[in-house]
Amino acid sequence: MTAVDLLIRGACIDAFDEAGTQIVDGAIAISGNRIQWIGSSAEIDDLFEGKEIINAVGMIAMPGFVDAHVHTAQQFLHGKLSAIRRRGELKSPMWSRYLIPFESGLEPEDVYCSGLAAYASMISSGTTCFLEAGGPYPDEMGRAADEIGIRGRIALSTMDMGDGIPAVSIFSTDEALKRNEELVKRWQRHARVNAWLSLRQIMVNTSELTKGMSALSKQLGTPIHTHLAEGSYEVDYAIKTWGLRPAEYMENIGALHEHIHAAHSVLLSLPELDLYQDRRVSACHCAFNNYTMGAPRVLEMLHRGIRLGFGTDGAATRGSLDMFEVVHAATVGQQAVGGTPYHIDPPITNEQMLAAALRGGAQAARLDRQIGSLEVGKLADLILVQADSYAQFPNYDPRITLAESTVGPNVRTVIIDGRVVMKDRVLLTVDLAAMKERLRHQYGNLMERFERAIA
Ligand SMILES: [Zn+2]
Repeated sequence: MTAVDLLIRGACIDAFDEAGTQIVDGAIAISGNRIQWIGSSAEIDDLFEGKEIINAVGMIAMPGFVDAHVHTAQQFLHGKLSAIRRRGELKSPMWSRYLIPFESGLEPEDVYCSGLAAYASMISSGTTCFLEAGGPYPDEMGRAADEIGIRGRIALSTMDMGDGIPAVSIFSTDEALKRNEELVKRWQRHARVNAWLSLRQIMVNTSELTKGMSALSKQLGTPIHTHLAEGSYEVDYAIKTWGLRPAEYMENIGALHEHIHAAHSVLLSLPELDLYQDRRVSACHCAFNNYTMGAPRVLEMLHRGIRLGFGTDGAATRGSLDMFEVVHAATVGQQAVGGTPYHIDPPITNEQMLAAALRGGAQAARLDRQIGSLEVGKLADLILVQADSYAQFPNYDPRITLAESTVGPNVRTVIIDGRVVMKDRVLLTVDLAAMKERLRHQYGNLMERFERAIA
């Protein structure tokens, strides 16, 4: 008998590996932060002795999600933009009119609380790793991520120009590079939480900064999280300023390469899609928002083998950080833009989209050898999902149940880096009541600052 830290017994395992492994009465042995063994419950008792045992009868074990584009610091903006829209006052583009002004008014403690709330929301819906888009006070995001136990890549909102952008959010070009490099170095030894470089987007970054960040990413071997080909205003700006479309401009200055993680990537011409493929850029499909901007080329990206993560884009616009919902929205969205116009039903199934989100998220995080599937030797980032709710019962086939009738609140237990961070829907790592109490004091103030900033 081998002693291990954690045994999971009785789960229906859907490993999401290349072979499509599914085990009906399955068991998993976890040692340290790694999956040591996967097999049947009948075998495990003769092989392993666990310090902790989780009875997962009636549940499905699957890999946790990567939210490949999230704005941690915008967590407490959720609901507010919809309220402004209801007043008939919402103007576009939202990122420069509302999102950046909101971020500009935040203090470190606000970002820390946002982090706790956002990461608790993620964990409770099955996300075990996040890629932060870039926001203020990233060390506070890191502190929250460290405490709550989630895996993540924090980043600093990085702008060195921009009309109408609050001065407090703009760095000089040198300062922007320096702060990014220092952030990456401060977090490089943490087991779960590291930092990435960041460029907000081409309209608020000088070419000099973009080139400098690009060189830094190659020197450090660290990805750059950016927004690219997101809205028509950006395409128009790029054509007017450089005579090129956004991805063509990045290519032209030598800043389109394997270290670029390009969120949204909606308004791409076919030559730009070629560039993504040739330069091994990764992208993120933010299904809640992307269909308001255009017809995202998800099917073509998947067909071309482009690394495509899926993301929520934070809570500000849709309120939800539930990746099951993102996958559902992506499937419906692709039917609308890539299926129905060509009389194809369906162009991609719910099951295929779910698998694409898990695999693509791990690829976008540059962690596909470590996460994204349940396999021996990989990191133990996995979730146990109930399969007997009113919506799910009877569980005819685990993959179909997960893809069609499961949502975040069905996630019961979450294990990240081998550690149980949520059990039976109770978060074990932080005191949420204390966080909510802190937030109650901060919220009024926060909203006043926001209203002043956008007045
Ligand atoms: Zn974004």
